[in-house]
Amino acid sequence: MTSVEDIKIGKATAKPLGKFEHPDLTAEGRQRASIELKQFETLWVNTGTLCNIECGHCYIESSPSNDRLVYLTNDELSPFLDEAALMGASEIAFTGGEPFLNSDFPAMMKTSLERGFSVLALTNAMRPMMRPPILKRLQEIHQRFGQSLKMRVSLDHFSAARHDEEREPNAFTTALIGLGWLRDQGVSFSIAARTFWDEDEAAMREGFASLFDENNFDLDAHNPTDLVLFPEMDMTEPVPEITTACWEILGKDPNDVMCANSRMVVKRKGASAPTVIACTLIAYDERFEMGESLKQAARPVKLNHPHCAKFCVLGGASCSG
Ligand code: SF4
Ligand code: SF4
Repeated sequence: MTSVEDIKIGKATAKPLGKFEHPDLTAEGRQRASIELKQFETLWVNTGTLCNIECGHCYIESSPSNDRLVYLTNDELSPFLDEAALMGASEIAFTGGEPFLNSDFPAMMKTSLERGFSVLALTNAMRPMMRPPILKRLQEIHQRFGQSLKMRVSLDHFSAARHDEEREPNAFTTALIGLGWLRDQGVSFSIAARTFWDEDEAAMREGFASLFDENNFDLDAHNPTDLVLFPEMDMTEPVPEITTACWEILGKDPNDVMCANSRMVVKRKGASAPTVIACTLIAYDERFEMGESLKQAARPVKLNHPHCAKFCVLGGASCSG
């Protein structure tokens, strides 16, 4: 294996290292940071990348035609729930795509709740959720498990114009109908929004506070759990690599990063079985596949992807509820 010393004294291969290329070394030959799984808290489950809409900045590039991650089934999820329980996880979090497009999604939520986990379900609260048979299942699950089920609804902006610009015409109105249903049923929910280039966080929170008031949502826009704001990320901007020295320089604790306490199960198109990946943010890079079981996946994650620097170490974003 190439070491830092080999690089320094020129023993390395003739081809210089590219950024984010080598698992252990940066392009400058410094020791790349990695993150150990400290306490397994959340098992993320990707239900499939298909979505009823196609947003301008979807981090996983979901759309009505992207099925690179296919629908996971309740039977396929089951062994991962067994492992998650043994490893001490308390939460199962579902994301997509739009999870309600997957016909096994209600069963997956119910199975997870029956096994004693709390459930976080990410949704756009649009047409897939609002189909009558789905609403009936949701009602039953809510009545049986109460606050153990939490939904997180994506509403990019407090204004219909900006939200619809990202999504599609009338997306805002449709999402508010879904949110109104959740409110009326007493289902616990939070909102996930985005900060835009030209607005600061305080202005975003004020705008959402008015929206919550107008719609009688029992949410505090100034509470980051009720209103999660994801930072705007320019993926074309160059980003520095993260070395082992960065934690001290930045005053950041690696245990606060998502891959220190979670993993995500996905099923790739054409694969015979699901696989475990490091996190929700890097779905398609096979270097972040950690194994076929949570046990295999409980090894350190090397931070050799620009997202590690942009979203987690420098940007401060987290997908965890
Ligand atoms: S609703 Fe969510 S999953 Fe679907 S395209 Fe938009 S951001 Fe992506
Ligand atoms: S992007 Fe994923 S793998 Fe990289 S630091 Fe963040 S959580 Fe860990």
